[in-house]
Amino acid sequence: MIDKPFTSSPFILGLQALIARLHPTHPQFERLQKELKIKEAGDFGERYIMQELQKFSTLHDFHVLHNVILPTALPMQIDILVITPNGVILLEIKNIRGQVRFKNNPRQVIRTTEKGDTAVFTHPEVQLEQYILAMQQFLDAHHISMPIYGAIVFPFNNVTIHREGEGLPILMAKELPLYFHKLSVGRYQQSVNDITHMILSHIRDRAPFPLCEYYDIEVANLQKGIYCENCGQYGMQKLKRGWICTRCQYVCSHAHVRALRDYYMLVGDTITNKDCRYFLNIDSQDVAKRILQKSCVTRSGSGKYTQYNLSGLYRKCEDSRWPPENR
Ligand SMILES: [Zn+2]
Repeated sequence: MIDKPFTSSPFILGLQALIARLHPTHPQFERLQKELKIKEAGDFGERYIMQELQKFSTLHDFHVLHNVILPTALPMQIDILVITPNGVILLEIKNIRGQVRFKNNPRQVIRTTEKGDTAVFTHPEVQLEQYILAMQQFLDAHHISMPIYGAIVFPFNNVTIHREGEGLPILMAKELPLYFHKLSVGRYQQSVNDITHMILSHIRDRAPFPLCEYYDIEVANLQKGIYCENCGQYGMQKLKRGWICTRCQYVCSHAHVRALRDYYMLVGDTITNKDCRYFLNIDSQDVAKRILQKSCVTRSGSGKYTQYNLSGLYRKCEDSRWPPENR
């Protein structure tokens, strides 16, 4: 069964927000666009593999978890974790197209596109070996003894793979059924419900927010204001209820929520009335106060020093479909 379904990476949401608020002439603009493309391709591949794995979900004791980060001494972020009675399987998904060469000594991945452009990536095996070791330590600490496997999976047949030497398995998505079948003939027959619950209860969130700090970008360089999702312009104006775009007259009741979410991902997890007026580009202190009191559950301090906490608002956006339908 799918115990932790696919969710889009919060890093992607953050990067999309950052690029949307950054001027194309900013020195980091192109680099960030490239980074976003790579992350989006990665997400697309992971979503596809999760759909494929759903087909096994009728199998007894076959538990699938997307994006698993556990509190381990060695950093660990597993794309997809599969827990079966015969072992724990870590899948590292690589959605790279073109000619891909896995080089040994030193271990590198070199990708050549159809146009002949080459790019060098970290060898996924290096990462995966670290995650396997971290998982070993994690299970040991919880007195669980289980075999741990790892495989690198390419979701689509748009890649030609060349490999030097031996190493962890590199599979195409279509090989997964056979791979799992081979593992299932092992001798271990543990019940995995408890292990799955234990792992689920330890899962952490991790996004490198705020992104301005992460990428060393001045907040002053960001486009301010409230985004119109109809025409793409910043600068919606407050109506008695909701917001109106001065360019296309589009009316939206919740446009400020997206701006506050952007602030959370790009600038910081708490905001003052003054910061809110600056970032959302609104003049009225009272309007800012009403928005913040309505949007933020927790706050600290008083008067003009009140800090409103945006993390609850961000989680709400993450959990529900975004943007909401009620316009
Ligand atoms: Zn508009």
